[in-house]
Amino acid sequence: MKTILKIAVPAPVATCFDYLPPEPDPGPPLRPGCRVRVPFGRTTRIGILLRTDSDSAVDPRRLRPVLEVLDTEPLFGSDDLRLLEWASRYYHHPIGEVTVGALPTPLRQGRPARVKHKQRLRLTPAGREALAAVKSPRQAALLRLLQHQGGVVKTEALGGLDWNWRPVAKTLAEKGFLRLENAGNEPTATPPDPPPAINPDQRRAADSITPHLGHFAAFLLEGVTGSGKTEVYLSVIERILAQKRQVLVLLPEIALTPQLKRRFERRLPVPVGVYHSGLSDGERTQSWLKFRSGEIPLLLGTRSAVFVPMARPGLIVVDEEHDPSFKQQEGFRFSARDVAVIRARILGIPVILGSATPSLESLHNARSGRYHHLRLPHRAGNARPPRLHLQDIRRQKLRAGLAPATCERIEATLARGEQVLLFLNRRGFAPTLMCHDCGWVADCRRCDTRLVVHRRDGRLRCHHCGHERAIPETCPACGSGSLLPLGQGTERVEAELSERFPGARLARIDRDVVRRKGNLETVVEQVHAGEIDILLGTQMLAKGHHFPDVTLVVVLDADAGLYSVDFRAPERMAQLIVQVAGRAGRADKPGRVIIQTRHPEHPLLAALLGSGYPDFAAQALEERRQAQLPPFSHQALIRAEAHRLQSPLDFLEQVASLAKHLEPRLEILGPVPAPMPKRAGRHRAQLLIQGDRREPLHRLLDRLLPRIGELPGSRVRWSLDVDPLDLY
Ligand code: ADP
Ligand code: ZN
Ligand code: ZN
Repeated sequence: MKTILKIAVPAPVATCFDYLPPEPDPGPPLRPGCRVRVPFGRTTRIGILLRTDSDSAVDPRRLRPVLEVLDTEPLFGSDDLRLLEWASRYYHHPIGEVTVGALPTPLRQGRPARVKHKQRLRLTPAGREALAAVKSPRQAALLRLLQHQGGVVKTEALGGLDWNWRPVAKTLAEKGFLRLENAGNEPTATPPDPPPAINPDQRRAADSITPHLGHFAAFLLEGVTGSGKTEVYLSVIERILAQKRQVLVLLPEIALTPQLKRRFERRLPVPVGVYHSGLSDGERTQSWLKFRSGEIPLLLGTRSAVFVPMARPGLIVVDEEHDPSFKQQEGFRFSARDVAVIRARILGIPVILGSATPSLESLHNARSGRYHHLRLPHRAGNARPPRLHLQDIRRQKLRAGLAPATCERIEATLARGEQVLLFLNRRGFAPTLMCHDCGWVADCRRCDTRLVVHRRDGRLRCHHCGHERAIPETCPACGSGSLLPLGQGTERVEAELSERFPGARLARIDRDVVRRKGNLETVVEQVHAGEIDILLGTQMLAKGHHFPDVTLVVVLDADAGLYSVDFRAPERMAQLIVQVAGRAGRADKPGRVIIQTRHPEHPLLAALLGSGYPDFAAQALEERRQAQLPPFSHQALIRAEAHRLQSPLDFLEQVASLAKHLEPRLEILGPVPAPMPKRAGRHRAQLLIQGDRREPLHRLLDRLLPRIGELPGSRVRWSLDVDPLDLY
């Protein structure tokens, strides 16, 4: 009987590939989860062995042997492979790309999976005594150097010597005069900070979780901002670590990892690893390998970390679980939050989803009993919640988007020596440039959208395709000189504020500033140090940071979210408002939040202001239920784009009739032009498939996708998005 190897090879093909064992036979049986190099067409590729089998759908005479086995120890365990295969099936993404894509780049390229340890030399008591007697000048020099440094030196610090210390150290180690030790991952030398006295709400939440350690259970921890969710995580994490088990903590943003890492390191007696795209390839690989081997007990990472193998799984935490950044928006479009829950189930461990503003999906799961719902309804310590006010801006004379009453509030706050935070989710100077005489507007030639005015750089920029050009001096259509920037972006509000409040120290945070100066952390520190009076920014501000001395928060434009084609826009807007509002205030100085709107009577705003996010969410969920939208239905979106206007629509028309033929009971909506019908020179259309249960939807996709590949329309690029978050 022949052995057939089922191998995941990165290629745009749904299934794995069959190969024969390497020749000559290497002896020990091949273990699933190991990397192999295989012939692929005329080249070779790195793949992962999924399993062995005894038969193949391919004629065995046409199968080729594996060229090389790269690992003796599997990189993925059987639970990891189960998760990857689940993800590949659920998101209908090729198993090879999912599996090999879960490796850090160097491992994907076939580099050795070797853990590298930092090392250090330690002088022994014998070495100390021998110091005067050692004759060899280099041996003596190395011992003296060690003595000068207090007996311990990191080997990386010896790189500056102009002679090779390694053989010398080896000889001295053989004599017992020094020791070569692994340095690497020990926790910070200072003893951990004592925890604050945990309050009754926190205790109740932690006590609800701990009986479930060691088996699968999902918890939604809904705690208002500043309620001390992190303390609840820490309290559970301490128990897991005491059992010598590992913890994976997922965060939506790289920018949040340094502060949480510091906080964890000050509190926990273990090294804390990080895994995100801001690290070098080498650092990522080492974090990956050390979490896999169990050497790092606690890993903080962004969405790709959800696939990092763990040796002794204990707990997964998803912080700010509502954040759309957990969904990958291109290629393998997975939701790290959802994968985390599946992973916890496969591993038989608890998972905690934490947020002040949970997603409607997670709230729905909590209401239907799939998740345990834990609440922290009050701010920790004595901090009081901020008070929310609507500022009706109809018939008001706005300057750079600021109502007179808002300006008065800002002025009064500054006069008291307190800080102000302004939030506007639009960067640039103005979202449009328009001719006052003929009505011409600056459109992007390649997209169905307006060019954004960036006055500081003198450029018009498209935020969708990157196209840019100089701001014209006269109207390209009529030659008039009266070109007006219309609407506001952060750059314009900044200019207005510095004119209105010349004495105030002003800082702006948005993608333009951070790209130029990369100084998000510096500004955050300046705000904490009281060196900033007014902080202005986009949604970057809404994430994670606390500003206890801010007592006034202004949301400049709440309306964008109320009337959008995207049914998730109100949910996003409510989350943003609550998150931004939550940045402000503390015990002795509660915060005030002003929300500028033209629709003060809007029911969702009213719910949000009346009794807060939980009531807003209940109402929004009811609207979703009536409209049969997620989470009360399940969606898959097929997007298509091409250079020709008609071809994506024609293509999706064929997909739609195929789908209707295969599964007449599902709703097939469209095809329709995408909400932005042209982007970067390509015409775009989309087809939405919706059903009230997941199984028929996935059954249809299983049968539909292979047939799509056979359709004429080769010039059309298409992709599938399961559980799409964004209809753009
Ligand atoms: P969240 O993650 O819910 O926004 P954090 O865990 O960051 O809240 O806590 C917010 C602030 O409250 C932090 O400064 C934290 O040190 C403090 N805090 C948390 N729990 C307590 C407590 N039980 N007593 C006093 N202060 C607390
Ligand atoms: Zn004109
Ligand atoms: Zn464009």
